[in-house]
Order: sequence, then structure tokens, then C-alpha cells
Amino acid sequence: MPEGDTVWNTAQLLHRELAGQVLESSDFRVPQLATIDLTGWTVAESRSRGKHLLLRLRSDGARPRTLHSHLRMDGVWRVFHPGGRWAAKPAHTIRVVLRTGSAVAVGYHLHELALVRTDDEDRLVGHLGPDLLGPDWDPDEAVTRLCRRPDATIGEALVDQRNLAGIGNLYKAETLFLRGVWPWTPVGEVADLPAMVSLSQRLLASNRGRWMQSTTGSLRRGEQNYVFERVGRPCRRCGTPIKMDVLGERLTYWCPHCQPEP
Ligand SMILES: [Zn+2]
Repeated sequence: MPEGDTVWNTAQLLHRELAGQVLESSDFRVPQLATIDLTGWTVAESRSRGKHLLLRLRSDGARPRTLHSHLRMDGVWRVFHPGGRWAAKPAHTIRVVLRTGSAVAVGYHLHELALVRTDDEDRLVGHLGPDLLGPDWDPDEAVTRLCRRPDATIGEALVDQRNLAGIGNLYKAETLFLRGVWPWTPVGEVADLPAMVSLSQRLLASNRGRWMQSTTGSLRRGEQNYVFERVGRPCRRCGTPIKMDVLGERLTYWCPHCQPEP
């Protein structure tokens, strides 16, 4: 599930493989960018902001540009060696191919693919709250933003990227479980918001640098989460069957004993 940590890892991968290199070709397979040719542009850096990816490019005599992409549920960037086999996903899901002398970066199922002036990045990411994995992470600001809508459910507020950027469905469910909070609790009634914000940041940060996501500390298949995607199975703490229901537009998972309705 691509959440802030996966996006952060992806940005690191693209930076490691592409930064400082000149693009020998670009091949966009989305209508809005079909005529764009980035041949000759140099990849300056790759960064993440919340769940958004920003690939910054420069070229002599031109204003720096940023290639923006979003993974949502199914997007992925992979890097292959020139001449190597592309083994990630079916070819028809490819949205862009960027080639340098030593790497071929292929973006599958990417969303919100856009090329903008780097000066205009804020048009795409300016609405985001503090980035949980960003250099400017600001927990106080995140709490302030959460408190602006005290009637919102905490389950929806945590995934609202305008409050804090990087949490998706997995970290939402796991954070709420670990804090013992019922997902439908209004933000204004959550006992210790700073502790919840800080816990969610630690969970994401602990999964940086690896592709497998664990909130329990175990990397064994089936043991990585407390409640996420465990409907009907026993709670790891109390044995009560985990519940699942729709919250906002997404599913949420919780233990009715450990996270009681107030
Ligand atoms: Zn429980």
C-alpha cells in the first residue's frame, strides 16, 4: 500500500539512480504529456512531499522543471538496467519511461502525472500539511490543522493530507489501534492528539529504507499489522475479532474491545 514511507523510499530510489544524469530520452504515454520531450535535461534531484513525488530537472538556458507523480493505490516506479528485462507490471500500465546512460526508470499506473516549472510546485503540493517524513516536519502545526475541524472523525482527519501529509489507510488504522481510539471519535474528543501525531510519525519513519511495512515490529507475512486488513481475525492483544466498516470513502479496521465506542 503506497503511503508516505513507500513514496519516500521511491523518491530515494529515483534520486540514487537518476540524480546528476542526463536524460537520453523520455517517452510519455499519457495524452496530456504525449508531445513532451525531455531529452538533454539533467535530473537535479528526486524528492517526496507527503504522498507526492517530485522529480526536479534542469537544462541550460531553461527554467527548472518538476515532473510530478502520485502513486495512489497502485502506482509504482521501477528502475532497470539498459537492455535488462522490465519485469514489474504489464506494458499497457506504463505511463512514462525515462532513460539515462545507466538506468531506465519506468513509471507504472502513475496518477496526476504533470510537468510544471519548479517555481510552481506549490500549485500541486502547496495545500499539503506538514510532511511526516519531510525535513520541515512540524508536529505542532499538524495538531493545529487537525483541530480546525473538531467535528470531523479522527479516522478521516488523519488521512486528510491538508492536515498532515503521508498517512494512508494502513497507518491510520494502526495508529488508532495503538492509541486505543475508536475511528469515528470526533477530533475534538481525542484525548491526546500530540501523542497520536507523534506515534503516526514514528510508525512511518520506522519503515523508511525498506519496502515491507510493519507496525508490529514483525516482518513475517501475516504478522506485520495489528488490525489493517485483518477483519474477523483475533485482535493480537485481546483476541476479539477485528471489525471492518466504511469510514468516509474508505474501509477502516478496528478492535471493538481495545478501541471502544465512547
Ligand atoms: Zn483488542
